[in-house]
Amino acid sequence: MGSGNAIRGSRVGAGPMGEAERGEAAPRVRVSFWCANMHETRPSFASDAAIPETWDCPRCGLPAGQDEAAPPAPPKNEPYKTHLAYVKERRSDKDGKAILEEALERLRNNKSPW
Ligand SMILES: [Zn+2]
Repeated sequence: MGSGNAIRGSRVGAGPMGEAERGEAAPRVRVSFWCANMHETRPSFASDAAIPETWDCPRCGLPAGQDEAAPPAPPKNEPYKTHLAYVKERRSDKDGKAILEEALERLRNNKSPW
């Protein structure tokens, strides 16, 4: 792999993650957003960019707003859908498949699947 200690990578303005570089690129502003779960997200924007009113929380996917005291309400889904999404989040696809297979096996064994 090598040490990777060469000077390359310190070019000013190279790369999309240039915010840690010396501030010679376009000035950036950091804006805090809070979602309904009170996760704080602080994306940075070019100072001449339009700052969106809401930002998707990277942790839970809910919309986040700039007002900590009044984050946007989570989108209202049907309860069943929300529950299903919750279950899906808790169980990976692999687990879901295992559960299904377990149920099928119980069926094959002539037992009640649930
Ligand atoms: Zn969140």
